[in-house]
Amino acid sequence: MLEGKNALVTGASRGIGRAIALELARQGANVAVNFAGSEDKAQAVVEEIEQLGVQSVKVQANVADENDAKTMVKEVVSQFGGLDILVNNAGINRDNLLMRMKEDEFDQVIDTNLKGVFQCTKAVSRQMMKQKGGRIINVSSVVGVSGNAGQANYTAAKAGVIGLTKSTAKEFASRNILVNAVAPGFIETDMTDALTDEQKDGMLSVIPLEKLGKPEDVARVVRFLASDDANYITGQTINIDGGMVM
Ligand code: NAD
Repeated sequence: MLEGKNALVTGASRGIGRAIALELARQGANVAVNFAGSEDKAQAVVEEIEQLGVQSVKVQANVADENDAKTMVKEVVSQFGGLDILVNNAGINRDNLLMRMKEDEFDQVIDTNLKGVFQCTKAVSRQMMKQKGGRIINVSSVVGVSGNAGQANYTAAKAGVIGLTKSTAKEFASRNILVNAVAPGFIETDMTDALTDEQKDGMLSVIPLEKLGKPEDVARVVRFLASDDANYITGQTINIDGGMVM
């Protein structure tokens, strides 16, 4: 499905990013694994990808930093010879009630989750324009659509990602660069591991499919958006949430 394509997935050493990186590789793409934390985990993903018979490389970069983003894209292009697919997946949360939320907690989340998407998108844009095509897939969240108490910073960033997706889709359409977003609901990863059983039960009660999602549920939709099957789709956000937000 993606043979001969070159992809970069941010925050790909674990969770949803790792699942996306592996899924794209399974479909034949060479995949660059961006990481900010553990190099060992990123290396493990690189090795898993290489075992699938495609190329992989790990690239350390803070997605919110302009120079890091530019250098990361340069490294990937020099390694693979091009870049066709960018998945902006890296994200953090710093949950708190608005009245208690520190400015720093707000800034950190906006920086990584929203500015990071801007920086990486900008960094790949020239290359994709030169190649006369590309796919950018941004990982938003259903709470960016619905809002969520205790997550004013996170929901503002994720709603921002949806707006950024639409504007970029309009700007890049004439260059055959398609930009879409996915909005996962509650997906079982390290990010949701910290939740108590009570919080998980509360979530299940609002999910019509009555189960939490898996990283692979998100990865398969990203793979579709990266493929030729999605040639006529741009500027869209697809909820992957078991029917939570309709
Ligand atoms: P995770 O914490 O397991 O993974 C996030 C990854 O991003 C980590 O590898 C982390 O090192 C990396 N990262 C963080 N800051 C970075 C930075 N500045 N530069 C580069 N990398 C950075 O979380 P996850 O659950 O796999 O989440 C992945 C994405 O999916 C995030 O954008 C998250 O907001 C979104 N999402 C998750 C859920 C969920 O339920 N898990 C739901 C909706 C959306």
